[in-house]
Amino acid sequence: MSYAFPPFQAAVPIAGSEELFPVRRVYCVGRNFAEHAREMGSDGRELPFFFCKPADAIVPVAPGTTGRIAYPPKTDNLHHEIELVAAIGKGGSNIPVDQAGAHIFGYAVGLDMTRRDLQFALRDKGRPWELGKAFDQSAPLSPIHPLSETGVIDHGAIWLKVNGQEKQRSDISNLIWSVAEVISNLSEYFTLAPGDLIFTGTPAGVSKVIQGDTLTGGVDGLDEISITLV
Ligand code: MN
Repeated sequence: MSYAFPPFQAAVPIAGSEELFPVRRVYCVGRNFAEHAREMGSDGRELPFFFCKPADAIVPVAPGTTGRIAYPPKTDNLHHEIELVAAIGKGGSNIPVDQAGAHIFGYAVGLDMTRRDLQFALRDKGRPWELGKAFDQSAPLSPIHPLSETGVIDHGAIWLKVNGQEKQRSDISNLIWSVAEVISNLSEYFTLAPGDLIFTGTPAGVSKVIQGDTLTGGVDGLDEISITLV
C-alpha cells in the first residue's frame, strides 16, 4: 500500500545537529504567569489548564532571520504571547514531578499567536478555543536546544519586543507551575510521547499587533525568534 498523497510531518531543526525534531502534538498551558492571569481576568490563583494547536501550526524560524507570518483572517485583535517551549523526548503517563526532567528532549522559544477577539467571544460562550488559538501559522518556533546543552531551565529572562519596543518581560522562575509540574500534570490527562511540544505560558504584557509589525523575543540560554506579520 502507498499513501494517496504525501503524508505531512511537521518538524523543527535541532540546534547544533543535522537532525530534525518530528512534531507529534502541540500542547499549550493557559495562565501560567500570575500577572498574565490577572490581565486575562482571573485572580491569579487558578490552576493552569491546557489547550492544543495542530502540529502544522508550527512555523520554524531560524535564528538571525525574520520569519514572514501571514496576518490571519477573521480578527481585528491579534496578540503575541512569548513562551518557553519544552520538547518531549521520552513518553509516559502519570509522570512524577521529580522524574519529569528525564522526559525533556530540549527547549525552544515559541510564539502562541492568538486571535484574542475570537478567543474571548468563544470563552464567554463556553465554546472551544480552536478558532482563537489553533489557526494556520499560529505557532512560530525557534530551533530546539537539547537538554544536554541547556540543563534544566527553571530561571532566566523571557521577553518580547514589538518594533523594538519592549512589551513583555519576566523570568521563567515566575511560572506558577514549573515545566516539571506542567509535564507531570499534563501526563495525568494525556499519554505524552516523543515529538510532543508544550508551550508553557506567557508573561503579562500581551498586546495587539498589526500587519507590518516585527516581533522579536527570547528566553535566556536559547535563541531569539523574530517574525514580521505580512
Ligand atoms: Mn499562551
